[in-house]
Amino acid sequence: MRAYERFLNYITYDTQSDESSETCPSTAKQKDLGALLVKELKEIGAENVFMDEFGYIYATVPASEGAEKAPVLCFCSHMDTAQEMPGKVTNARIINNYDGSDIVLNEAEGIVTDVKSFPQLSECIGDDLIVTDGTTLLGADDKAGIAAIMCAAEAWISDNRASVRNPKLAHPEIRILFTPDEEIGRGPDHADMKKVNAAYGFTVDGTGVDHLQYECFQAAAGYVKIHGTSVHPGSSFGIMKNAALLAMEFQSMLPVYENPAATKDRMGFFHLTGMTGTVDNAEMYYILRDHDRSILEHRKDVFRKIAELMNLKYGENTVTAEITDSYPNMIEYILPKYPFLLDAAREAIREAGYEPKETPVRGGTDGARFSEMGMPCPNLSVGGYYCHGAHEFASIQKMDSVVTIIEGTAARLAK
Ligand SMILES: [Zn+2]
Repeated sequence: MRAYERFLNYITYDTQSDESSETCPSTAKQKDLGALLVKELKEIGAENVFMDEFGYIYATVPASEGAEKAPVLCFCSHMDTAQEMPGKVTNARIINNYDGSDIVLNEAEGIVTDVKSFPQLSECIGDDLIVTDGTTLLGADDKAGIAAIMCAAEAWISDNRASVRNPKLAHPEIRILFTPDEEIGRGPDHADMKKVNAAYGFTVDGTGVDHLQYECFQAAAGYVKIHGTSVHPGSSFGIMKNAALLAMEFQSMLPVYENPAATKDRMGFFHLTGMTGTVDNAEMYYILRDHDRSILEHRKDVFRKIAELMNLKYGENTVTAEITDSYPNMIEYILPKYPFLLDAAREAIREAGYEPKETPVRGGTDGARFSEMGMPCPNLSVGGYYCHGAHEFASIQKMDSVVTIIEGTAARLAK
């Protein structure tokens, strides 16, 4: 079966996750797709296939002949879809041999994927594209990743012995991991790394076809609490400390251009995500981001020093600034000890006919958390574009290429 054939079935399952839920998976319906994946994995002959109470799917593909001693390699994708739009797709349509023009998704609603706004369409001229009618997202993020891993697993198992003759299908022992709740930042929360028991892995969760991502933000969260002194404004000379005004003063002391709207590429930022304030007290919530750990540490220092300075000015304990680390830049876990993982993926991407794109992610990935949990985990593409919205589309041919890239990567790690 080709990846898109599996994919077209997976996207009919509603697997939208829900941030407001406290259960895992956050929505029980994710387990419906999970049950299908368990059934399919068993059908293709994977071993130790099961879904645990949290909705995580684990499966094993034994090593090909001669690769039994190579370290276990994991491929991971997530089952849930983003909260921005409904994710149950019953209206997918295939555009054969895409000609490079704007795509009318929905004539009645006037929803058009135009080339000007979505320039990556031009990467897919001549491909067969899968689109929606514009009322849902497509769910290539990340069901295209799941479909590609399933196809690779099927090829490995059906040709387990033939891989001696066909080195392209050689592979170490493979662990498959499908997680719920990635879109709400909880993908790795209940992943049992003892059950995964892999030396390293790849998430298959990136846009396009040729991306190799192993660098993400180094992330921290900042919380500022300001204790004011409220007095009747008519008699507050020299006494009042207006917490709301002090909150504005705190923000004004941060570097003016170091915010998300004024930074790109490798520039980090302070991002005020929310605030409340009265005369009596004020609170501010920030996220701090940088690719470079030392710059992020400097950023944290600046944050704390502003509080210190304001306390000198307004009195001890007027301002408290707390910082907690959120997630690391996975490059720290990958590059020093596992550069061969990246070489394997690069060669596989080139063999599939593309030049690897290696740009740092301006965000986090599940792979960052997996890397921190002991499984170094770069990210590969899925063959989909413009996820999280109505204009998400996938290329059938690029999805096939992703299968080839997964197989090629595994073959290079089979020694
Ligand atoms: Zn994703």
